[in-house]
Amino acid sequence: MRRSLISICAVAALSVAAFAADDDDDVPPTPPPPSVDAKFTAYGQPVIAFTHAEIVDGTGGKPRYDQTLVIKDGRIAAIGPASRVRVPGGATVIDTRGKTLLPGFVMAHEHLFYPTGTYGARDYAALPTSFARLYLAGGTTTARTGGSMAPYADINLKLAIDKGEAVGPDLDVTGPYLNGPGLPILKMHVLTGPADATRTVNYWADEGATSFKAYINITRAELKAAIDAAHTRGLKVTGHLCSVTYREAAELGIDNLEHGFGVMTDFFKGKEPDVCPARSQQALADVDENSPEFESLVRTLIAHHVTLTSTLTVFETFTPGRPEAPEAARALLIPELRQMYEQGWAGVPTSDNLKPYATIFPKLMKMERMFSAAGGTLIAGTDPTGYGGVIPGFSGKREIQLLVEAGFSFPEALKIATLNGAHYLGRDADVGSLTVGKRADIVLVEGDPMKDSTALDRMPFVFKKGVGYNTAAIFDEFRGKVGLY
Ligand SMILES: [Zn+2]
Repeated sequence: MRRSLISICAVAALSVAAFAADDDDDVPPTPPPPSVDAKFTAYGQPVIAFTHAEIVDGTGGKPRYDQTLVIKDGRIAAIGPASRVRVPGGATVIDTRGKTLLPGFVMAHEHLFYPTGTYGARDYAALPTSFARLYLAGGTTTARTGGSMAPYADINLKLAIDKGEAVGPDLDVTGPYLNGPGLPILKMHVLTGPADATRTVNYWADEGATSFKAYINITRAELKAAIDAAHTRGLKVTGHLCSVTYREAAELGIDNLEHGFGVMTDFFKGKEPDVCPARSQQALADVDENSPEFESLVRTLIAHHVTLTSTLTVFETFTPGRPEAPEAARALLIPELRQMYEQGWAGVPTSDNLKPYATIFPKLMKMERMFSAAGGTLIAGTDPTGYGGVIPGFSGKREIQLLVEAGFSFPEALKIATLNGAHYLGRDADVGSLTVGKRADIVLVEGDPMKDSTALDRMPFVFKKGVGYNTAAIFDEFRGKVGLY
């Protein structure tokens, strides 16, 4: 009680000082307050050496054991066998025996908003404050947002993170959804045609958006206009499509498709051009992944260099018989949102709408493996939407665990969630793998994720630019607050 009174007074005093400064040049500038994030930092030393570590480096290669990794001034200065790499004098040494170092995750569908339910229209709360910190605490050091409901909040957060004024992953901010009429979501602009698509892309690119996402009710002409406008500026376009098929989008030049094969309408019987057919999950469940038609679609996507984003995390929440989000994740939510999620999860087994996901979920896993085996590039994202079961801080590691469950080896799954994403975002010279010279974005896990991917659930420290964050401190800070900030 006393503390909160003091902070209110301090705020009042600061604003008086700021007011006075307008009239009096002699008043010294108010010093910036200590960062709200200062308490999350566990390691801030310029030279840090991890010794006797297992390393899975994000390139898809085999793990290396008993390694020393040295960080100097935010970058990786050395990696090699502990017997050969010299620990620099004055280094802070972290004994990493029994632990594994991974590159920071690069995730591509990390919204800064969360569903708050339906009251006439569906609504979503922008939660940039908690989500930025929680994504980082879950191992994600670079993220693309994958569609925005509050683009100025996302852009301002990105700038604050770049300047070191806020803790979170480096952000590739996606502009507002490019979508036509027909969705009951108040926070979305409704496109009126191709010229509006061009105008919207140009406006938000000027404001600082660095990628764009087409949504389920866009026309082919609008999508083409958006792709042309974005490509003219060197920016990429992804889509969570429905009205436009995957094949059409590939031929129009789209760069990326969200949700693996989970939202394709290519095989819906009687689909009208430019129209999103009434939802039929059963049609998706009925797609034969061994058919020549599916094989031809895979070939077309690969020929057009279309990257697919796997978001198994959100499909898992629709699938009967899958585990509930962990208690520690649910505990982050304010009571109303926790209740909304728990009711949603409890309703999955009896929902007729969701029954087909019992078939769809394993099929999507198989299709992603087939796409990758045929030479297609998969990246990973987590998508905290649906009815709220995908919770930042827990979602990134879950996505990697689900890729392993889908049949990828752990190094392959990790590469999808690190180097592949970094390459897609054009950041692979700097991040995406544990490589000498790259930025020291490093996840430390207890145990060996090669043997058991649940080791990812024990992640005490995440390093970004060589600064080590105490993940438990971040989770503690936001317990019961997700929904407010
Ligand atoms: Zn999404």
